[in-house]
Amino acid sequence: MKLQIEERVRKNIRNLVPYSSARDEYSLGGAVFLDANENPYNSPYNRYPDPHQVLLKERIAAVKNVPADRIFAGNGSDEAIDLLYRVFCEPGRDNAVAISPSYGMYRVCADVNHIKYREVSLNSDYSLDTQRLIAACDTHTGLLFICSPNNPTSNSFAPEEILEVADSVDAIVVVDEAYIDFSPRESLLNATLSCSNLVVLQTFSKAWGMAGIRLGIAVADPLIIRYMSMVKYPYNVNSLTQEMALRALEDRAPVKQWVKKILEQRERVSRSLKKFRFVETVFPSDANFLLVKVRDPREIYDYLVGQQIIVRDRSRVALCEGSLRITIGSEAENDRLLDALREYQRDFVDN
Ligand SMILES: *Cc1c(COP(=O)(O)O)cnc(C)c1O
Repeated sequence: MKLQIEERVRKNIRNLVPYSSARDEYSLGGAVFLDANENPYNSPYNRYPDPHQVLLKERIAAVKNVPADRIFAGNGSDEAIDLLYRVFCEPGRDNAVAISPSYGMYRVCADVNHIKYREVSLNSDYSLDTQRLIAACDTHTGLLFICSPNNPTSNSFAPEEILEVADSVDAIVVVDEAYIDFSPRESLLNATLSCSNLVVLQTFSKAWGMAGIRLGIAVADPLIIRYMSMVKYPYNVNSLTQEMALRALEDRAPVKQWVKKILEQRERVSRSLKKFRFVETVFPSDANFLLVKVRDPREIYDYLVGQQIIVRDRSRVALCEGSLRITIGSEAENDRLLDALREYQRDFVDN
């Protein structure tokens, strides 16, 4: 990127005076806090959470091996996506570029913020068309989204290709690594240290098993983090979430175990699915789900719903025609899925 980050920031955000909370002005312990109109009873939840999430970011920094001032913590990665639009895209004027098919929130946030959304189709083998991505950008492109591993295609992209795009455009390049823990590829976290327009998103919702607490992070140049923090709600990550995340960061053994099991099950489910006569393709996956092309996606989807097994019908998504997206569950859940599909084959395919 040739531009300075400042030049990409919306003018009203550059000049923003952020809300200063009571705890911003004095936060040391041991004091009698009569500054925030809190209730003195019901400790510790009577107190507002740390708006800067200092301890949480310190621990995340240690685990992820990136400096704490390069970390933004949000109410899911979804908050980070929305904030990036609000910081870097002028409503009614700017645009965002994204690979397609990909995660639906990029477009929803573009629509909410009145930002034009330009999709650049992946190649038919789901590989990245770097030249077309670069060519889709102009001076009004604020953000460029690449999800890797990609939802719903389940493949990932070579870091060199992503960095080539980031080097060639004057937009902020957002790499969504929600599924990175299931991939053999290396994260681009370290690349954010030298690439000032690169933002890497990660989440506690998948490998960490904490979708319910709503915690996502963005890692980027400290200036980008500062602008995102200026725009966010002061108390965007609540006390319970910070507490639960700190606990999870302390002992990562369960996460490693879960990932190992999910990877074993991904292999097993993939192998079993390939044996069904109605299955045309099980695409190679670097994520915790499989994209599966089948002969009659709607019939199978409905059959599974009838068995109280819910998968995601992606068959009307461009490049995913005929495909279902199936999350890897526990061994017992996967047994249920495969049993149901055996019954489906017997009753609907063989007869
Ligand atoms: C699941 C998912 C997320 C996670 O979003 P959170 O708001 O952190 O729960 C982010 N990006 C993609 C592509 C996902 O599939």
